[in-house]
Parts: sequence; structure tokens; C-alpha cells
Amino acid sequence: VKKKLKIISIHIKNSPQAMPLGPAILTAQIESTPVLKDIYAVEYSDYYIDQDITEILNDIIHCETTILGFSIYSWNREKFIELSDQIRKVKKEIIIFGGGAEATAAPESLLIDGNFDFVISGEGELPLIEALTAIHENRSLDGINAVYTIKNSEIIIPVERSWNMKDLNLITSPFLKGALDPGSYDGVLWELSRGCPFRCSFCFESRGNKDIRYYTMDRLKKELTLFEEKRVNQIFVLDPTFNYNRERAKDILKMIIEKAPYIHYTFEVRSEFIDAELADLFSRINCSLQIGLQSVNPEVLKNINRSFKMADFIDKISLLNSRGIIFGMDLIFGLPCDTLDSFMESLDFALSMQPNHLDIFPLSVLPGTELYEKSSQFCLNFENKAPYTIIDTPGFTKEDMEAANKIKEACDIFYNQGGAAGWMFMICETLETGPAELLRRFSDFIETKDKKITPASITKVQSEFTMKMFSEYEMSSLFRPMDDIIKIHGALKYALKGGPVKHKHIKDLNTSSVIEKSPGTCLIKLNYFFDDLMEIGTYNLHEFIENFRPEPNSTVVYNFNGEPKPLTLDKDTARLINSLNGKKSIEEILDMNKNIEKNDLMDFVNYALSEGIFRMPSKRD
Ligand code: SF4
Repeated sequence: VKKKLKIISIHIKNSPQAMPLGPAILTAQIESTPVLKDIYAVEYSDYYIDQDITEILNDIIHCETTILGFSIYSWNREKFIELSDQIRKVKKEIIIFGGGAEATAAPESLLIDGNFDFVISGEGELPLIEALTAIHENRSLDGINAVYTIKNSEIIIPVERSWNMKDLNLITSPFLKGALDPGSYDGVLWELSRGCPFRCSFCFESRGNKDIRYYTMDRLKKELTLFEEKRVNQIFVLDPTFNYNRERAKDILKMIIEKAPYIHYTFEVRSEFIDAELADLFSRINCSLQIGLQSVNPEVLKNINRSFKMADFIDKISLLNSRGIIFGMDLIFGLPCDTLDSFMESLDFALSMQPNHLDIFPLSVLPGTELYEKSSQFCLNFENKAPYTIIDTPGFTKEDMEAANKIKEACDIFYNQGGAAGWMFMICETLETGPAELLRRFSDFIETKDKKITPASITKVQSEFTMKMFSEYEMSSLFRPMDDIIKIHGALKYALKGGPVKHKHIKDLNTSSVIEKSPGTCLIKLNYFFDDLMEIGTYNLHEFIENFRPEPNSTVVYNFNGEPKPLTLDKDTARLINSLNGKKSIEEILDMNKNIEKNDLMDFVNYALSEGIFRMPSKRD
């Protein structure tokens, strides 16, 4: 009978990135090791951080596990510590080991309570194989590279304190081995390399191996072919500096164009290594790029070992913008020498680049990083528990942190969730105010709201705030076209999210058919015609109201084969669309709208079904 070995991961939240890649790699590695595969029956399970610990505990107890592995990160560290404590109370004999980023950063701290039997620091594939072999042969784990153990309350530190695989091709692909089915997840994590050549002092990657190690193109090609066969929707590329090796990045993009261009990819890139050819290749696939900016303050950047050439950065971003490539950026506040003012400057700069989204983080002083070691030198005061969030610094008081956190939340609601990338600058230009200040004002505004802002209410809140701002700046006359622009962007986003209508059933249409609005269909009331509003950009708001007359109308925005599309309606058709709820048949609709001719209605419904404005609810829906 094989011994049961279970590896557990706890995800921060349910998202397309919640794939248990690490446990699956270890599983595949054990299953492809000749002796071990006959000794251990390996399985992995994944949970979420807000899940009740007793649920996880019961699963472990019921599966009669002999050896238990935890994939430990800063966000799940406390949960795993509690879990190990509970397990020890009921199942003393289980061997528990830990690996992952937190185990790598502070292996001894996990062993101190006596609940863990061993902890692996660094890349765990080979040390785990050696540890499992030793356990099977009843040998001590002493002397195994990167494996920390405890004996008579004394922690035994290995000679080689952390492990990095020199040749990544010794690692079995969990996808090709069949240990992880890419088709059964909402998104796939695709590891292309390990290591990072940079030394950003806040980042955990920077303490690992400076040499980047790559998987072969042949392996990547086989994995990509499998992803395409399994109809994967989106891939998160795991390579913190995808374009550092520009030629390889181009080869991978060409392979994607050839093998699987319709999957959506997310890449992390460094701006300095973007060139025109690379931008062209990115523009030929369905992708979004993430660029770490962190700060634009030279003193702050020097303290975290990052270089930044503003002119070059602007040039590289314009290569992306000129090709319509979607990209997001990251900023961190509370770094050494950062102040609230310098954070606001960084925010102004970042938003002036018009990223699709901007992710803002308070600094986390992660154990094991250079910044952690230098934290007293910089007088960084941070929480002593994961995620080690900064509390204050000499330049950034607690009050400043609170203000920065509020702006972070405002940015997330107004800019990211509210999809303001395409129009926030119009408000800033009109009011002659910076985007950071606008977000600060928005953070004050949302504090006055009693109701929680939901995705469905964001557009309305954005409009209310803009109206307030225009009125304060005595520019209320410019509000109507701006309000239309906000509504249109909200509707376009909604239509895109609704997705294309899959089953149109047009040939089945008759007067007893029941129809409803498609999931992305949204009716909005505009002050100006849609086509006129598209002239904003050529005209500023002042010029626009001088050149165009208001023409109040209703416009439906819907998902046409994957793309949002607008259609201006007459009053009767708008009323008709508004009354659709998926319960009334065409006959009943005709009864309610005596002024509409049957043939006209059938023609319109036919057209609307073919466009994807309406759909006939199927039983499955
Ligand atoms: S922040 Fe990015 S570039 Fe810097 S060390 Fe980390 S992974 Fe490398």
C-alpha cells in the first residue's frame, strides 16, 4: 500500500490566478521519480484564506495522510501555523513539511513551535525528493541541501541554506505529465523561467539566483499546444522580467501568434527593454502587460536599487499606446525616503501615462529581503506579522499612510473598477487639476456616501462626483457631454463583460417566442448623439458645447460578437427594450405596445437577435 502524501495550498482569493501550480509541480516531480512513485500516492488540494480551518482539518484527517506539505506565503502563513497546531492535537504521527516564499524567507521561525518536521528553503523540487527518499529509507534528513529540521528542540541548519535548480529542465512539467489539467481552471499560470537579474530591495525575487534559468522552447511549445487543445481562456505568464531577454521574448511571442493567439496573456515587462518590434508582436496577440513603476522619486528609487529614466519610460509607453496595447502599472508607497507628496507626484506621473489600470500597494517589508535587513537603517516601522505592512516611516506618518490608503482605494474604485483610463484626463484638463488631486477629492467624496459602492453603482457615483466637481469649479455647463462620456464608458465595459451571445436561435423565432436583453446589453440616456460625442478629443469640452447641439436620446450598447457596439434608438424602441425581462412573449409585447406594427416588431426582433442585443433564454440559461 502506498503512503499518502498530500500537499496543500491556500489561495488569497478565488480568482483566475488561483491555480495550485507549486503543489502540482511537486506532485509531477515525485510521480516521475522511479522509486518514489511506487512508494507515495501524492495528491494536492487547494483552499481559500477565508475558508473555515475545520473544513481543511477534516479533509486532512479523513484522507489518512502520512506526509503533509504546506505551500506557505505571507498571506497564508498564520493559517498554516494554526492548521499545523490543530493537526498535532489529533494526529501526532503525520509528518508535516513547509515550502514556498515564507518558508524560504524564514525557515527557522516555522520550526520553532515544533509542529513542522522539516522546512525547505528555496526551490523545493530536488530537496523534497531527497527528503522523501531519506524518510523512506529511515535516514535522518540532516545534510540535505536547503532542508531545515528540528531535533530535541534544536534547529538543524543545512550547509546549503537555500536551493535553486541550476537546470530547470530537470523539473517535470505538471501539465505534460497530467498532474495538472489546464482545462479545468479559469486561468493558467505558465512558468517560463526562474530568477531575476535585478536587485530591487523590497522584492523577494531579488534575493534568489541572479542567473535567469529558462525552460526550453520545445517544452514551452508542447505546453502551449496543450493549452490550446484544452481551450484555456487566459494565461498568466510567470516570468518577472519577460522581455529582459528580448530575442527569446520575441521567439515566444511568435510561437504564441502561430499556436494560440486567441488566449489572453498577462506579461510582466520592464519598460527599458521594450522596442518597436516587441511592441508590434504584443499588438498581434490578446494580451495585457504589467509594468512596475513603484515611484518616480530619484532618492526613493536609489534606496531600493532601481533605475528609472523618465524620458525613456515615456518613449516606451508611447510605443505601447500607439499600438493600442493594454498595460497596467504598479506603485508602492511608504518606501524609504518616500513622502505623501512624492507618492502624489508618482501617482500623477503614472496616471499621465494612461495605463488601463494602476495597482497601488503599501510597502510590505518582507523577511528575507534586503529592505528587511536595512529596515532599522531606514527607520521603517512595520507590522511584525505577515503581510508585514508598513506602519510609518520618518517621511510618511501614520496620518499620511491613512491618506495614501484612501487614495489607493479611490484609485481602485474610480480608475480601475470604474474604467476611467479613457476619460479621466478630460476632467483633469477641463478643471486644470492633476489626476492625483482628483483622486484625493474622490476619496473625500466617497467618505460622504452611506451606501457601499458596488460594481453596478460605480458609473452613477462617478457621474455624481464629476457633477459636484464641475459645479465647484463653476463649469456646470460642461457637465452634460462629460456625463455622456462617463455613461458610454460604463456601458461599453458592461457590454464587453457580458460576452458574445452564443445561442442566437433566430430560425426558431415566432410570435410566441420569449425574448430578453442579452447579458451585455445596456440602455443609456444621452444628452448628445453618440457620434457627436466621439468628436470629444478633437474638441475640448468648451469647444464641443459651442459646436454641437444637445439631442437627448436613448442608446443601446451591446456585445456584438465580442466587441461592444452602440445603436441610437427612437423612443418606442427604447421603451420596448426597457420592458424586456425574459418573461413576455412577442405577442404579449404587441398587446402592450399597440402603436407598434407586428411586422415592424418582428423585423426589429430579428435584427436585434442577429446582432446580439436580444437573446431567447434557453432552458440551460
Ligand atoms: S521587482 Fe521585479 S525586477 Fe525587481 S527584483 Fe523583483 S522581480 Fe526582479
